[in-house]
Amino acid sequence: MNEITPNSTIGILGSGQLGRMLAQSARQMGYRVHVLSPGEDTPTGQLADVEVSAAYDDLEAVRAFAQNVDVVTYEFENVPSATAAACAEFAPLHPGPQVLHIAQNRLREKSFFAENGLPTVPFALVSCLADLQNGLADIGCPAVLKTAVSGYDGKGQVKINHPDEAEAAWQTVSEVECILEGWVTFEREVSVVGARGVDGSFTHFGVIENDHRNHILDVSKAPADVPPVVTEQAVAMIRTVLEALDVIGVLCVEFFLTAEGNLLLNEMAPRPHNSGHLTIEACVTSQFEQQLRAVCGLPLGSTEYVRPTAMANLLGDLWFDPENGAYREPDWAKVLSNPALKLHLYGKQEARVGRKMGHLTAVADTIAAAEKIVKEAREILRSA
Ligand code: AMP
Repeated sequence: MNEITPNSTIGILGSGQLGRMLAQSARQMGYRVHVLSPGEDTPTGQLADVEVSAAYDDLEAVRAFAQNVDVVTYEFENVPSATAAACAEFAPLHPGPQVLHIAQNRLREKSFFAENGLPTVPFALVSCLADLQNGLADIGCPAVLKTAVSGYDGKGQVKINHPDEAEAAWQTVSEVECILEGWVTFEREVSVVGARGVDGSFTHFGVIENDHRNHILDVSKAPADVPPVVTEQAVAMIRTVLEALDVIGVLCVEFFLTAEGNLLLNEMAPRPHNSGHLTIEACVTSQFEQQLRAVCGLPLGSTEYVRPTAMANLLGDLWFDPENGAYREPDWAKVLSNPALKLHLYGKQEARVGRKMGHLTAVADTIAAAEKIVKEAREILRSA
């Protein structure tokens, strides 16, 4: 592939915050940006040269979009396969359709991990109640039933503590194809964001430690305080994923780390990831610039950490006064009085509880110090 050089046009499918931060990197490096999604005045569209508002299955609009760009990438993995194919008629699509096919379905994803010798929790396919009952007999309780497609941030998931709960759980997931997973007692959750270039070159941002709240990422910090052997293993595993799937672009793998120091792959996303937002301030090259470089066939940038960094998500909850529930704008000036803090807001029109509206990042001498800064600032926003 010839390089897609600055002043060319990047096409992005999906228009949320991940596309927005990719667009920021693309603009910085002199690229033009076109975005396609059903929305208008979107987080990505606000920064793009052209915002196409069309349904993903409007293949005529998708083809016209792809004709006007030099490369297509995406910020979410549920791009329909027909949309991906329509784009690929006119422009290279990275990561390719084979990656989307695996990443869109939890069963295919875990089976792919297992086939490549990568450790996961025990799992079973569930397409009827009998499958679920048999799966529970094999795997044991507690277990978690997850819809195979379209689940994110804990949506479409039911924990099962006793085999008697099978029928109710099956109804809760609306009797659609599912994966049943053994429940793992982990010590920590960690992720690795990796990238692979057109020439097969590989880079990674090391291990990032993640805390979740209500199944949504809350705080990330890096470089994570884990034994070197854990980093070595996690990096080898993501490299296996990138190479086995022939990924061109950025991909994140989320892991459970057990008390014994064992890593289990939970899931992957073939795009920049919320846990990697801190790379904007923490590293020489951010995960977004790396995605741009990879999909454009450019050399990958240095992922070296400049300093320890922490990131805290800002959910829509912060827009509601804790005392009376009234909608109000958080007091940004109050937290920005700490000069170490960086504020990212995604330009979303309306705040809703649980909606990712922005994030705070701080760099410091230690990850503990950085974490303290972002958490304290967020508490100020909550009460202010
Ligand atoms: P997921 O959508 O698969 O990332 O799940 C969301 C969150 O639920 C994870 O980040 C974990 O905190 C928790 N979780 C998911 N699967 C399991 C499991 N098999 N065992 C224990 N916790 C889990």
